[in-house]
Amino acid sequence: MATPPIEVRVTAAVDAWLRWVPGWSPGTHRGRARVCRRCTGSPILSAAGLTNDVPHQVLHALVARMQRIIDRQVDEFTASSLPALHAELENAEMWDAGGYDPASGLAPEYEGLDPDPEPEEVDQPFLFTLAGLAEESRPEPPLPRPPLSGEEKARIRREIELADAQAEEVGRAVCFALMPHRPRIQSAVERFVEPQVREMLDELSRGLEPPR
Ligand SMILES: [Zn+2]
Repeated sequence: MATPPIEVRVTAAVDAWLRWVPGWSPGTHRGRARVCRRCTGSPILSAAGLTNDVPHQVLHALVARMQRIIDRQVDEFTASSLPALHAELENAEMWDAGGYDPASGLAPEYEGLDPDPEPEEVDQPFLFTLAGLAEESRPEPPLPRPPLSGEEKARIRREIELADAQAEEVGRAVCFALMPHRPRIQSAVERFVEPQVREMLDELSRGLEPPR
């Protein structure tokens, strides 16, 4: 089956994000205050016309959806054109197979975020953490295989460079395809996000007023 063009994928991902935004509220996600590696300085945000005064979860939900498109395209390219890297990745996956991965199967708005809440954010102590569970359920790794030859290593390195170049190219294509959606994205933020942010700020400033 032919892969749909980037524009079609981007449009579908923006549509999905637009369906998600009206249900967003500041309390529905616990974000960490630390800097997000996916969103910070992401060209996807400038292409979408979004700025940092929009709450991180809203930005992240869009960035993660675009990132999925890029990752999938690079995976497909690797599978079809980079045999040494593909074999290496398959092998690495064998090591992880079967274990519980707390980050797999997450909705895009949670992707790339830490699955465990900060300890001070929970009311009761957690008996176990998701990361701990993943550690326990990891199966015995398969027997190690013979080390790679210098030539094999060099080949994988070359293919990694090609995969990186492909990711960059697809990333640029995604940004271009995203730009025509700016008006839809911005009006969703104005309609569903900004009023909630204003309300939150108002509440905050009411709380700061001295009691009478
Ligand atoms: Zn983020």
